Amino acid sequence: MNAQNESRKKKLLFLPGDGVGPEIVEQAERILNVVKEQFELDIEVEHDDVGGVAIDKFGLPLTEEILNKAQRADAVLLGAVGGPQWEHLDISVRPEKALLTLRSQLSLFANFRPAILSKHLKQASSLKPELVENLDILILRELTGGIYFGQPRGVSKVNGLREGINTYRYNESEIKRIAHVAFKAARQRNKKLCSVDKANVLEVTELWREVVNEVSVDYPDVELSHMYVDNAAMQLVRNPKQFDVIVTGNMFGDILSDIAAMLTGSIGMLPSASLNSKQQGMYEPVHGSAPDIAGKNIANPIATVLSLAMLFRFSLNREDIALLIESAVNKTLSKGYRTQDIASEATDKNKVVGTKEMGDAILQSLNGLLGEHPLTVNHHSNNKVVGFK
Ligand code: NAD
Repeated sequence: MNAQNESRKKKLLFLPGDGVGPEIVEQAERILNVVKEQFELDIEVEHDDVGGVAIDKFGLPLTEEILNKAQRADAVLLGAVGGPQWEHLDISVRPEKALLTLRSQLSLFANFRPAILSKHLKQASSLKPELVENLDILILRELTGGIYFGQPRGVSKVNGLREGINTYRYNESEIKRIAHVAFKAARQRNKKLCSVDKANVLEVTELWREVVNEVSVDYPDVELSHMYVDNAAMQLVRNPKQFDVIVTGNMFGDILSDIAAMLTGSIGMLPSASLNSKQQGMYEPVHGSAPDIAGKNIANPIATVLSLAMLFRFSLNREDIALLIESAVNKTLSKGYRTQDIASEATDKNKVVGTKEMGDAILQSLNGLLGEHPLTVNHHSNNKVVGFK
């Protein structure tokens, strides 16, 4: 981005979506408004419908008009899509189709899923505290290829029997570009990259391994290892701190990042960023629309607030504001505030709060940090920037 770009108005598109989406995006927007005013940022926010709500309104999970708006925006913040009321629809018009279309049409091939355990949440993890203390790993998932997009796909009748087919394919340029992103990210962290595949049985991942090895020649300072996906799933729960950056394809990344989510205590804590080569990005919590708790003021908004921090980091080039938001979240946790999903027996019952109240508490911490002079910001991880450049 050049200086001229830095100073022009930034356009954000907020797509709250279904289930808990609107409740959690609302909390992130409250944070954005405070930051916007404090730093006098020229940011315009538009809101639109996507997913099930868009199906109910327009008959489609993602209209052409909203897709065009997303393409013109500097960044998109998405809540979540989906719910049981749309599950009977054909897969091609279900709410989740909106996500796949946004990812592919915006070429958001690099999905960053940091799994960081706040030191205040050791008790919330499903693993023993000593296994997860200071956990800080990054899963980089390829997002626009692999079995979720490969053709042919579908269900048809073959010899009188219904048969389902999906195609797992990657070409070498798709593997190369995500491998470069992964090596660069590892370079800015602990310089360890683990590429996950199933090269012992799937030819497509044999190619994956070959290409990652070829790319590694450009990064002699990064220690590269390879692991089969079944072993990686086991190692993530056995000894997660052995990992620094994991790079993998679309489906394996989907599954491994949910495992990593539980290591951090709750899926409600994990943000994600999906970027294209222009740093244009879509930011969303890793979790889904959580229909079981939607509309009850229970959902944890932290994953969405941290996604907003990533938006500032990657698409608006404001590392300072990203760190400020992350510090506000950390400060709030240090004060003992917890939503239900991250509360433990040790939590003060008066500090188990709802979605909006967690938003209030983060805002209060943010205002506290903004009032400090000079501004001191402590990143809740080990101060390692999850880099793309
Ligand atoms: P989910 O992530 O919505 O929920 C799994 C569990 O985690 C539930 O018990 C839920 O209550 C809990 N949970 C999720 N987010 C939480 C939060 N912020 N705070 C507290 N608890 C939280 O996954 P699911 O139940 O498998 O899927 C529900 C719907 O979401 C489905 O329609 C699915 O297709 C969709 N989905 C959407 C996305 C997305 O929009 N990116 C991702 C995954 C699933």
